[in-house]
Amino acid sequence: MEEKKIRVTVFNEFIHEKDERIKKVYPEGIHGAIKTSLEKDERFSVRTATLEMPQHGLTEEALENTDVLFWWGHMAHAKVSDEVAERVKDRVLDGMGLVVLHSGHLSKPFVKLMGTCCRSKWRENDEKERIWVIEPSHPIAVGLPEFIELEKEETYGERFEIPTPDEVVFISWFSGGEVFRSGCCFRRGLGKIFYFRPGHEEYPTYYREDVGRILRNAAEWAKPSGGPRPTLGKFAALENVPDKFVPKG
Ligand code: ZN
Repeated sequence: MEEKKIRVTVFNEFIHEKDERIKKVYPEGIHGAIKTSLEKDERFSVRTATLEMPQHGLTEEALENTDVLFWWGHMAHAKVSDEVAERVKDRVLDGMGLVVLHSGHLSKPFVKLMGTCCRSKWRENDEKERIWVIEPSHPIAVGLPEFIELEKEETYGERFEIPTPDEVVFISWFSGGEVFRSGCCFRRGLGKIFYFRPGHEEYPTYYREDVGRILRNAAEWAKPSGGPRPTLGKFAALENVPDKFVPKG
């Protein structure tokens, strides 16, 4: 029997790439590069969504048919409708995986799900980033070497104003001196969230094979687990115990 594919939607605001300089780096858009990278593995079926589409391409139906949502955004976070952001949050709480990339740390869905401001230090200065795998046994680290190096990336620095992650898989060091928790896992409701730092629009980061491996690992990790759905609210006792809460006449 053919195994069911993991249905991924890649959302990208798709604004930087309208600029000729950035278009040279990502002629198919950042979402196009991520889609190509994910599709190297036949486990995934991938569609893309952009800000300009009706409801940003993230309608009820689209999200209902998404196992894992990738999110790249930067300059237009405020243009994402509150209704769509809330819908994404609700879907995550209901089990959809969410992989938030780079400047997506300030996107509405991520900030809502974290409950903190999610800001950090940053500097655009062509510095080197060395990403250390600090949890080699984690599913997102499968197939990676001890560290990977990106010759040029945007620098982010701690403190990264997020709640303490459930797991930190990667820590980055930058040649300017900062460090950053660049691969963070969170659970919210029934959903899993992975934040991955690299991917500034000026650099060809998403074409790299090692980065692609991380994105594919993250999609596999974040997919709905298929575990039991919990019953919430008033619940009859499974054992024979007196019911203290019989309504009084
Ligand atoms: Zn950036």
